[in-house]
Amino acid sequence: MLFRQLFDPGTSTYTYLIADIQTREAALVDAVLEQVERDTRLLRELGLALRYCLETHVHADHVTGAGQLKALTGCQTIVPQYAEVACADRQLHDDEEIWIGDISIKAIATPGHTDSHLAYLVNQTHLLTGDALLIRGCGRTDFQSGNAGLLYDAITQRLFTLPGDTLVYPGHDYRGQTVSTIWEERQWNPRLARRSRQDFIEFMAGLRLPPPQKMMEAVPANQVCGQVEVHA
Ligand code: FE
Repeated sequence: MLFRQLFDPGTSTYTYLIADIQTREAALVDAVLEQVERDTRLLRELGLALRYCLETHVHADHVTGAGQLKALTGCQTIVPQYAEVACADRQLHDDEEIWIGDISIKAIATPGHTDSHLAYLVNQTHLLTGDALLIRGCGRTDFQSGNAGLLYDAITQRLFTLPGDTLVYPGHDYRGQTVSTIWEERQWNPRLARRSRQDFIEFMAGLRLPPPQKMMEAVPANQVCGQVEVHA
């Protein structure tokens, strides 16, 4: 498997490139509009054909590159079931699997940050956690139908039950961390380790974070696959 973690410094977003080395087929997860040129160049340089552009959720902090990537490469755009993204080619439901050559990408329903969020387990070894589980943190739950109780259940029942050596690749990191493991997060994630569901709900309610700068433009833009004029 070819696996690359790409970073957008403007929004601290990780985009993941996954490819089958034999068939040269590729998928991108959580592409960023401002990085479409970087991504298409890399695909070209590595001799890869983009089959799928997947989203973990409808983002509030950046505009997706999926619509542009589809126009440029003919890839299918894929979003979680129930996400209000009418332009997407396909919706994935919990436990559904897609394949890139011999590599499986399995959807795991992880609502709570948003109500239709998916994590993707790649090759049974690499878990793309989107904004559900971050390294030593988790996604916020105070808008976009967020729900702290549901997020606690999704992380503890669906993600923390995976093998401890499963690699954790988050949708964002703001402190330079790149990868963790399920074991590490079970032990050391300060929001979840040794915290009850009620504790977690109260902690999340007390965060009082400012809204993301791009929220008012990012959410509507992402509901049309990023195919709008963006005024920065
Ligand atoms: Fe998010």
